[in-house]
Amino acid sequence: MTDFQSLFRTVAAPGLPGGAALALRPVPWLALAVFSAVLGACVGSFLNVCIYRIPLDQSVIRPGSHCMSCGKPIRWYHNIPVLSYFALRGKCASCGAPFSFRYAAVELLVAFLFVLVFCLCPPAGADAPLGMRWLAAPVGATGVPALRALWTVPVFWLFVCGLVVATFVDLDHMIIPDSVSLGGAAAGLVLSALVPETQLRFVFAEGPDGAASLVAAAAATWREGLALSALGAAAGSAPLWLVRVIGTWWFRRRGRIGADDHAMGLGDVKFIAALGAFLGWHGALFCIAGGAFLGVAAALPLMALGKRRLLDRIPFGPYLALAGLLWLLWGPRLAAAWTFAFAAR
Ligand SMILES: [Zn+2]
Repeated sequence: MTDFQSLFRTVAAPGLPGGAALALRPVPWLALAVFSAVLGACVGSFLNVCIYRIPLDQSVIRPGSHCMSCGKPIRWYHNIPVLSYFALRGKCASCGAPFSFRYAAVELLVAFLFVLVFCLCPPAGADAPLGMRWLAAPVGATGVPALRALWTVPVFWLFVCGLVVATFVDLDHMIIPDSVSLGGAAAGLVLSALVPETQLRFVFAEGPDGAASLVAAAAATWREGLALSALGAAAGSAPLWLVRVIGTWWFRRRGRIGADDHAMGLGDVKFIAALGAFLGWHGALFCIAGGAFLGVAAALPLMALGKRRLLDRIPFGPYLALAGLLWLLWGPRLAAAWTFAFAAR
């Protein structure tokens, strides 16, 4: 277990209660991780439906899953996430039409993300290592009761669901639906009030060696959670909105885009509001910088190969979403590690 533990070792937060290593109880931890994976695969199956139907303005509930070729409903035992795809060798059981591997890939991806969130999203205090920890003891700097802190897991599961839907719809259609972006922003505000532990603020804590370091602490009251969430939505969308206004003016002046075109979609501005509503202002700013960096890093090889020109339209949503995921899983740790490095100099 030790090697596995060190794989996920977090930056220790000195001076916090519960900083001492807590013995992991492997069996219930493993059971919960397996449950996370199975639930994630099932949710991923539903997200496939959302990704396909939401941009077409179709209901995600009715009709049930059916084959796009022959129209026959897919029976439940042919609709088991991941397994059915491989059992049927990626083909419709009735007519044999091939199903895209992406359906199974999204199910696997969401299963993996659900496990990652369960393992890596400690609600408060940079020292909370694995999901198991929350069941064992009060957590972190604010002493959040374990059962309350556990609510952060479904909230962040919902968050990664939004990331997945936004990513694949943006890749397919170059849009991010309002129900995902604005709906996500509203959900972020409400859930941050209901589960303030999802919102982090950074506080300075004095370590055993007397050096001050930055540690993440959870919001304690519903007001604090709501305020941090609203601040995050504003801190994310305001700069992107400004980029859109200035960029549009600049490109139009140079005749690079038409009089009705914009330098950046409004969908991205609304989407970053949703990211900020869940991740707070530091997460929102990280998403903008990280999303731009990832977008350029992905475009450079394609440009070098001559497959893309500098000013080609690219979907920004997937890169924002990936940056959001990185911040959710490692952001507070990165910030803490950075301040440790800074303090050590
Ligand atoms: Zn069929």
